[in-house]
Order: sequence, then structure tokens, then C-alpha cells
Amino acid sequence: MYLGDYHMHSTCSPDGNLTMAQLAQSAIEKGLQEICITDHVDTIRWFTFEPRTDFDWAEAQRQYEEAQRLYGDRLTIRLGAELGEAALSFERAEILLQSGPALDYVIGSVHNASEKLNTFDYCFIEKGDDAYYNTYIEDYLAQTRKLVGWGKFHALGHLTLPLRYIRNNAGLELTFDRWMDRIEDIFSVMIPKGIGLELNTNRGGGPLPAINILRRYREMGGEIITFGSDAHTAEYVGFQIPHYRQVLRQDGWKYFAAFEKGEPIFREM
Ligand SMILES: [Zn+2]
Ligand SMILES: [Zn+2]
Repeated sequence: MYLGDYHMHSTCSPDGNLTMAQLAQSAIEKGLQEICITDHVDTIRWFTFEPRTDFDWAEAQRQYEEAQRLYGDRLTIRLGAELGEAALSFERAEILLQSGPALDYVIGSVHNASEKLNTFDYCFIEKGDDAYYNTYIEDYLAQTRKLVGWGKFHALGHLTLPLRYIRNNAGLELTFDRWMDRIEDIFSVMIPKGIGLELNTNRGGGPLPAINILRRYREMGGEIITFGSDAHTAEYVGFQIPHYRQVLRQDGWKYFAAFEKGEPIFREM
């Protein structure tokens, strides 16, 4: 089985623990054939929410070249980015991307609520009532809709992300089933633009998004699925990707996508 992991973070991310070379080494040990490094490139600074347009591309390129030199003969290593919070400023997002090298793959992600909710970071969601969760989920969907309307990235990352933190911080297993019309609206914008959808294996917390949401994307004509572990440590590189490949194959998916210079390469599920 040809295995690729298209979402992982190196020390070029504020919360990364491994260099790109160490990620590559771990991927080889786990039997992967391909990885894409997707460090956080954000339009706001973490926790202070200040606007930013800087990213240390020189360090990213240095680490990428080192990983290629050490492991490039045994592993296909792509350079990507996880573009965070473009919906807060498309102008800053474009500056961030234009100031770096040509990337193979860009994930578009929403981690923070809109300005209306003080760009609240979903990782701080706590236990609350329905109205509390609904406020953040509806705002999340609005930010995601805005992001796909702009659309200058290759796949939407961890759709339904607030569920990760509702689960981790409040111990609740919610779904987005009651917001399926909003999800369909997002897909109706993504699909004609050729924007892919990521299955994020979520470090074992259940796939983001859920299998029925991935299926809806396909039923509406979406064809581009990518797999990502969202690993920040060696433990999670490639985590559960073989399992979810099998789940999606049984659910009727024939192909998944890898990327080179922004172009999808389809491989058998
Ligand atoms: Zn993310
Ligand atoms: Zn990530």
C-alpha cells in the first residue's frame, strides 16, 4: 500500500517538536512512501492575535534541504504549509504565501473565530451549554465559508475542528449533522474550484470531518481527498492513515490525492 501523510508540523511551527529531517526519519520507520510538511503559516500571532505577515521561510528551506539530503532517496518529501486564519485577512495570507518558495500543497485551516468573537482560538473551548457551542460552531462555519470563497489553497484542513476541542476539553462527542446544509453550501463553493478535502486522523480523536461528511462531498462531485495525521511528535506520524484508507475504500472512494507543485496526483485508495 502506497502511504502518504499530508499534514505534519516541524520545529518551524510554534508547537512542533521535530525537525523536518526527524519527521522524515520517523515516516521511513513507519513504512510511509511520501510526506508533506505543513507548518503553521498564520495571519495572526498565536495567543496575542496580533496581525502578522512574517514566517521564517529561510529556516523552513534549510530544514527541507537537510531532510532531502538525508532521506530524499528513500522518501518523497514535499514542502507545504498549513495556512491558518486566511479568512481574517486575505491580504496578509497572500503576502505570507508570496514571500515563500513555491509550495507543493497548501492546507486552508480555520482555528480561530471571527473578530466578532474576538478571534477566540477554538482550543480554549470549555464545557458549556448548547447555545455556547452553537455560537462558536456557527461562526466557524461562516469563517470556513469565507475561506473557501477566497479559495487560494489546495485542501480544506480538519473541517469540523471545534469538535476536537469539545471532545478534548468538555468530554462531549458532538457531530455537525444538524449543520449539514451549511456544509453543503461550503462544498458547493469548493467543488467547482477543485478544492480538496482533508481527512485529518486527529491523533486518534476520530476523523475530522466524519465519514458521512466526506461522503457528502463525494456525492456532490468532490474528488480530491487527502490524508493527514496532524503529527507534532514522532508518535503520530502516519497515525491511523492505513485504517482510514480502508474505511474510505469500503465507503466507495476509489482514489486519494498527493500533490506536486499544487497539482493533484491521484493514487488508488
Ligand atoms: Zn490545524
Ligand atoms: Zn496542523
